[in-house]
Amino acid sequence: MAVVRVYNLGYDPETRIGELLHTTTVRHAFGMIRREVADPVELTMLGDRIVPTALELTRELSGAWVEGAGQRSVGFSYRAVHERDHWSCGYCGRSVSKSPAREALLATVDHILPSSRGGLSSWTNLVSACKECNNRKADRTPEEAGMPLRVDPYDPALAYRVGGFVERLPVLVPA
Ligand SMILES: [Zn+2]
Repeated sequence: MAVVRVYNLGYDPETRIGELLHTTTVRHAFGMIRREVADPVELTMLGDRIVPTALELTRELSGAWVEGAGQRSVGFSYRAVHERDHWSCGYCGRSVSKSPAREALLATVDHILPSSRGGLSSWTNLVSACKECNNRKADRTPEEAGMPLRVDPYDPALAYRVGGFVERLPVLVPA
């Protein structure tokens, strides 16, 4: 079984020097290419097929490892945001649910940059929040409200699973 080396962004094809992150199977490598997580940087013939022997991530991996993400296709919904965040408030860390024992812990989805100020309903601008934190934050940024985020909201499409772990790529924040 051929092994494919996966390098962080910055692999130099001339010197073949790069940050080796891990190895994976050819099958998984093709999936990463299809998902635009990585590009092939070395190819070989395997039987009558051209297969990659080394990949380079399309975005630099920060080293953060996140469990529970990396499904091939994660449909965007408020429920999916809660599932990504493990039904925990991104501000206070308490468990939230749709039918909590206490109203304060009702699961809501917070726009980190408020929608009233142009914040988008996107993976990276939404976070699970308890009703109490969401009300307290109101139409403010976390900085303005003095409520730092405990999590780093990410796009599950930019994550992949390796050895029971999930590697995720940092999302580019629009300037
Ligand atoms: Zn909270």
